[in-house]
Amino acid sequence: MAGHDVVVIGAGNAGVSLAARLLRIGAKDVAVVAPDRPHLFRPLLNYVAGGQATMSELTRTTASVLPDCTWVRDRAVAVHPAEREVELAGGGRIGYQDLVLAPGLEEDLGAVPGLEQAMAAGWSSTAHLESQATAVWDAVESMSRGRAVFTLPPEPSPCGGTALKPLFLACDRWRRRGVLGDLDVHLVTPFTGVLGLPFVDHRLDAHLRELGVTVHRESRVTAVDHRERTVTLDGPSATVLHDVDQAFVVPPYRGQEWLAPLARAGASGQVDVDPETMAHRSVPRVWSLGDAAALDTRPSGGALRRQVELLADNIARSRLGQPLRRYDGYTIVPVTVDRHRLLLAEFDRTGAKAPTTGLVDLSVPRRALWLFDRFVEPVLYFQALLRGRLIP
Ligand SMILES: Cc1cc2nc3c(=O)[nH]c(=O)nc-3n(C[C@H](O)[C@H](O)[C@H](O)COP(=O)(O)OP(=O)(O)OC[C@H]3O[C@@H](n4cnc5c(N)ncnc54)[C@H](O)[C@@H]3O)c2cc1C
Repeated sequence: MAGHDVVVIGAGNAGVSLAARLLRIGAKDVAVVAPDRPHLFRPLLNYVAGGQATMSELTRTTASVLPDCTWVRDRAVAVHPAEREVELAGGGRIGYQDLVLAPGLEEDLGAVPGLEQAMAAGWSSTAHLESQATAVWDAVESMSRGRAVFTLPPEPSPCGGTALKPLFLACDRWRRRGVLGDLDVHLVTPFTGVLGLPFVDHRLDAHLRELGVTVHRESRVTAVDHRERTVTLDGPSATVLHDVDQAFVVPPYRGQEWLAPLARAGASGQVDVDPETMAHRSVPRVWSLGDAAALDTRPSGGALRRQVELLADNIARSRLGQPLRRYDGYTIVPVTVDRHRLLLAEFDRTGAKAPTTGLVDLSVPRRALWLFDRFVEPVLYFQALLRGRLIP
């Protein structure tokens, strides 16, 4: 069993940024456990689904994004806290002084009967699955009339609110093609309002009304049937949407099964950390961040900016016996309201607006924000965030 000072599980946004940050603040021996799969800048998936980006723009090799650390090319399958070891799919074990769990969430297609078959049949697609992002735009381009259903997933989900982007980009496209009036567009949201965030919901509501979108609030998809072309909703009233031509359904998400012994009780399956310090509540020297962690806030890449800096610092502080720093749950949801304007919802774990600047109100749709989100963010992500550099 080889032991490392810090072992990080996962080489997504959280794992790579944290490993890089730890090295930047002086850690000497960091190992990242991750399979050799492409690394994606996933926010761009919505722009692929909206016809504004290509898959190659968001895809890199894991080797090219990892910092100068040990890369264990394998999947973690169990944690053995008593021995301070992680078990690997390949059969080996790896020891740690501190362990950071960052394997993200996994989609639960089985939770919605019929969804997997509907996706295989091409009747349903979503930007949230990398294999389907281009199919969303193809479906949008193929529609000139009929009924389209878009959904926001229940929480926790990887920045689920951004599933509004493909809806608004599709409506913009249909309007420019002169077919929007022949389309019956529905949005299914688990929240009251649109995102459950009053400081942006009134604006999003106005845009949806103007586009003629029917909103099903406090509702979730419980089944789909591509042969019958139905989408069944559970909400204030049980509803079945008939004659659906395309169902853009984002699946529900959950924490990974192998983490169950370290997960918080309840349905989410996320790692049971103190949401403020990110330290596991009962297992010493185990930490978690990113989508995998039960941080009582909505997961997002934007949230990771604060989490990464704070967790790297907290690991160092815990070793020195210093008080740990506290994360306020800051997170974001960027939403395009048309092809050239975007608003940014920034909020804390209570849902209260938490702006990073007082100079301009970022929750108002602006062209500059769309330009930033679409073109500047990917550069910052690859050049700074994944390299452990801080961005305020
Ligand atoms: C369509 C879409 C749009 C989004 N848009 C935005 C946006 O506009 N703004 C924003 O801030 N956020 C957005 N997000 C959310 C953002 O991408 C996630 O919050 C972020 O990627 C979370 O990073 P993570 O490292 O925690 O998880 P992930 O990105 O899921 O990475 C987890 C990594 O762990 C690896 N892994 C999994 N299991 C194991 C295992 N057992 N052992 C080892 N490795 C494992 C995986 O291969 C993966 O590389 C979006 C997400 C999606 C899907």
